[in-house]
Amino acid sequence: MNYQEISDFVDAHQNEAITFLQSLLRIPSPTGEEKAVAEFIASKLRTEGFNPTFECADPDRPNLLNTWKGGEGKTLLFNGHMDVFPPEASPARDPWSGEIVGDRIYARGATDMKAGDAAAIMAICFLKRMGFVPQGTIDLGLNCDEEQGGRAGILHCISKGLLKADFTICMEASEDTVIVDTDGRIAYKITFKSDGWHAGTRLNQEDALMKAHKAVSAVIAYDKKLLAERYWGGNDFGACISVTSASAGYEGKTVNMHPAICTIWVDRRYTKGETVESAEAELREVLDSVEGLKGSYTLETLFASQRLTMDPNDPDIVACIDAYKTVFNSPIRAGRRNAGGDAVKLAHAYNQKVPHFGPGVYDNLGSDDEYVPINQYLGFIKTYMLFASRYFN
Ligand SMILES: [Zn+2]
Repeated sequence: MNYQEISDFVDAHQNEAITFLQSLLRIPSPTGEEKAVAEFIASKLRTEGFNPTFECADPDRPNLLNTWKGGEGKTLLFNGHMDVFPPEASPARDPWSGEIVGDRIYARGATDMKAGDAAAIMAICFLKRMGFVPQGTIDLGLNCDEEQGGRAGILHCISKGLLKADFTICMEASEDTVIVDTDGRIAYKITFKSDGWHAGTRLNQEDALMKAHKAVSAVIAYDKKLLAERYWGGNDFGACISVTSASAGYEGKTVNMHPAICTIWVDRRYTKGETVESAEAELREVLDSVEGLKGSYTLETLFASQRLTMDPNDPDIVACIDAYKTVFNSPIRAGRRNAGGDAVKLAHAYNQKVPHFGPGVYDNLGSDDEYVPINQYLGFIKTYMLFASRYFN
């Protein structure tokens, strides 16, 4: 099967592909309400002669799994999520319209990530109809619950040992990049304590808020160092740290007291060359170097996500790039960008390669005007077909 045959087939069936995406977009699927869209996709796959199944932590929130085994060999997985951000309270545009304006299709989830889901589904259906038989297995795994952390979705599937593959394409929007490197996120809660005393009494000591104030200044100075040393700029992102919330005393109820407790919350993005452990050690060093802080605070890690890292020269990554260049005839790189949550979890669960590689436009992500360019969507159907047709050789 050569590229011309793939391209001609998709061109001849482009109305079907566009209508399918519009149908997906018209089924509302905010996180927690994924069942209707999952059933619609399953019925489409059954029509094509597949046998999709649901894997559920909650019966109303399916994860859709579809296995296409053509022979013994490697497994290629297409992984995406079916849930979308809830629409705004009074959106300027009907979030479930799926309307076409010019060369774009508009709806909530067009970029994140129903265009990617639809591109993988259509690619598998079209390959089958063209008579392609994988010398191995092509799996499709579409999860619920991605936007809220994946407990009912990817994490449930991983707990069952599902979604293992030799190579996985996560169809999240990736624009001009095959995303092989992302930053991780850590959330800290730091609590300062001191004596509390009457505001009318002068004591020659620091209260908890004064200590926290010094810590906040130190964190801001530390962020400047990160900006200079470990921030890669633009779409490459990198390390940063910020104080995102603070609370002192008894929330205004005892305004005549020096506060005996003060808590700040800190968000840290860590990047290549760093680990969760090194980031925490550095933060403690920053705080301990401030006079009077050492030993006067507790630091708690509330949350730490891992980074996604892959070799940009991996042959499968290079094959993604080659397929894209053939279809789009425009440059693409293996590199960094912010990225979604499921891919990182899947990559770490099985030490699996899971680049983000899919249609969508970052600038309209999460906006009223979310859209996907039609040609980009159709191009990714061809790209996935071309990649899959070469993968088992
Ligand atoms: Zn997403």
